[in-house]
Amino acid sequence: MRLTVLGYQSPFPAADGATPGYLLEVEGKRILIDCGSGVLAQLIKRCKPYDLDLVLLSHLHHDHLSDFFILQYALLMGKQQQKRIKPLSVWAPSEPKSWFQKLAYRDYIQLESITEEESLEFDNLKISFFLTDHGIPCYAMKIEYDGKVILYGADAGPQTDWTRMASEPDLFICEASFLHQDLPIQPIGHLSARQAALAANQIKAKSLLLTHLYPELDPSLLKQEAEQVYRRELWIAEMGLEIKL
Ligand SMILES: [Zn+2]
Repeated sequence: MRLTVLGYQSPFPAADGATPGYLLEVEGKRILIDCGSGVLAQLIKRCKPYDLDLVLLSHLHHDHLSDFFILQYALLMGKQQQKRIKPLSVWAPSEPKSWFQKLAYRDYIQLESITEEESLEFDNLKISFFLTDHGIPCYAMKIEYDGKVILYGADAGPQTDWTRMASEPDLFICEASFLHQDLPIQPIGHLSARQAALAANQIKAKSLLLTHLYPELDPSLLKQEAEQVYRRELWIAEMGLEIKL
């Protein structure tokens, strides 16, 4: 498996940046996880957008979704130029319904709703979904392939129960939206770097990738905060970062 960071900032991108998006490549399949602002411009350095095999959207907030509507146009062009024949499989939560309905696009997309009950299995890959603590239905994703496990935490507040999702994942991708001192008094469905590191310890994650970073915050401060708590391999997201498992 190879995971490439295509976007990691939120709620808006820095110059030449992008809000969340990740390319997962496994057995020649290309899976796009989230599709925020600026993600397509990064994806296109690696593959044609109409060559994707699967798109997974953790939730329907704009920072994870906005470039999806441009991807629809890429599929339209791919079809018109006969570069892609079959519809693109897209999995997303079915709420908020008004946004879910907008994901469908002619017959270019095969739209499926994500639930906890149903996992996605093909080839030797299995992806299961778990609700997180967030303002709208938002799903973490457990990705299993060839004995390796990636847990993508999506957006998640402090009430998220990580322990039911995975134990000792090889890679835990966790949001770190704040420095701990800047956490809002009322939790708003996001974590500090310290909380991300504590969550990683709780599930004994073998490595941790901090993401969903505020573009005006120095990432090294977030890394330092997490390092005080989490002692194993720690990455901070940056554009084009590749992690092979
Ligand atoms: Zn977000």
